[in-house]
Amino acid sequence: MDSAKSNSVLIAVREAPFRKTISDGIKRNEKSIIQFSEECSKALIVDGNVFSFDHSFDSTVTQSKLYDTLIHPLVLKVLAGYDCTALAYGQTGTGKSYSMGMSAEQLPEEHIGIVPRCLEEILKRISIDEQKENNGIPKLVFASYIEIYNEKAYDLLALDTEKPVASRGQRRFTGGTCLPLRNQQDLKQILLLGTKNRHVRSTNMNKSSSRSHAIITIHVELGCRHSRLNIIDLAGSEGVRRTGNEGIARAEGVYINMGLLSINKVMLSMSAGHTLIPYRDSILTTVLQDSFNSRSYLTLLACVSPHASDLSETISTLRFAKSAKQVKLTPQVSQQ
Ligand code: ADP
Ligand code: MG
Repeated sequence: MDSAKSNSVLIAVREAPFRKTISDGIKRNEKSIIQFSEECSKALIVDGNVFSFDHSFDSTVTQSKLYDTLIHPLVLKVLAGYDCTALAYGQTGTGKSYSMGMSAEQLPEEHIGIVPRCLEEILKRISIDEQKENNGIPKLVFASYIEIYNEKAYDLLALDTEKPVASRGQRRFTGGTCLPLRNQQDLKQILLLGTKNRHVRSTNMNKSSSRSHAIITIHVELGCRHSRLNIIDLAGSEGVRRTGNEGIARAEGVYINMGLLSINKVMLSMSAGHTLIPYRDSILTTVLQDSFNSRSYLTLLACVSPHASDLSETISTLRFAKSAKQVKLTPQVSQQ
C-alpha cells in the first residue's frame, strides 16, 4: 500500500525541440536553457535553479519511450479498476498536444502520441484477458471528448456542440457523450469529430484551441465496474501574462488561469487530506470531480521550451510541476 501511495502522483518534464523558423536551413547555435544533470537523470537546471522530478526527458526522447515510462503504468491501473489522469501542462508550442496524441491525422509511427497508444494497449490487453479468463464478462471501451472554454464545458461528440453541458457553479457534471472504441478507426472518427467541432466553435468564437482545455476520457467497463483514463491537454499556461491585453483575450486568460490554479488547489487540498475539496472553483475541476480525486492516479507532464526568450514561462511551468510534486494520493479501486 505504501509503495502504491508514493507512486500515485508522478511528475515528468519534457523539453520541446527548438521551434522551426524561416531561417531553419541555417544551423542555429542557440543552446537550450535547460541543462540535464549528468549525475542524476531526474534533475535539471534552468538559470541556476535545480529542479528534480520523477522523470526529466530532453528533446531527444521518443514518443514511444515517453508512453512506456509514463502512461503504460496508468493503463495497467485503469484495467485493474482505478481512475487515472494524465495532464499536459505548459506554454503554447511546447508539445502538449503532440505528446498527448490529440491529432486526428495519420502520423508516422514515431510521432504517434499517447491517446492512440493507450487504446492500442488497452484493446490488446483486453483481448488477451478475454481469451485467458473467458469469464463471460466483456470489458467495454468508450471515449468521451470535452472542451472547456471560458468556464464552460462543451461536449465535442454531442449533436449540438455549441450548447455548454456544464457551467460554473454547477454542482455536478454528469458526463459527456460516450462513443464505443472498438478499434483505431473508431478513435480516429472521435478525434476527427472532436477536432472539427473544436475548430468550428473556435472560428465562431475567435479563439484558437490553445485557449481551451481538452479532455479525452477512455472509459473501461467491466460488468458494473467503470474506470476512467482522463487525458488532458491543458490550455497554454502563458495565460494573461503574454497574450492578455484587453477584452476577450484578457477574460480568456483569467479563465485559463482559474482552471490551472484550481487544479493546483484541488491537488494540494487532496494531498493535505482535506475532506472538502474545492472542485467547484472552476469548471475544469468540476468536470474532473468523479475521476480526479484522492483515490486515483495522476501523472503530470510539464512541457517546456528550450528557448532563452521563453525563460520566465519555463521557470513558471517548472514551479507549477514542483508544487504538484507535493501531492500524495491514496488510490482505491473505483466502485461505480
Ligand atoms: P502545444 O500543444 O503545447 O501548443 P504542439 O503539440 O502543438 O504544442 O507542438 C507545436 C509544434 O511542435 C507541432 O507542430 C508539433 O508537431 C511540434 N512538436 C512538438 N514537440 C515535438 C517533438 N518532441 N518532436 C517533434 N515535433 C514536435
Ligand atoms: Mg496544443
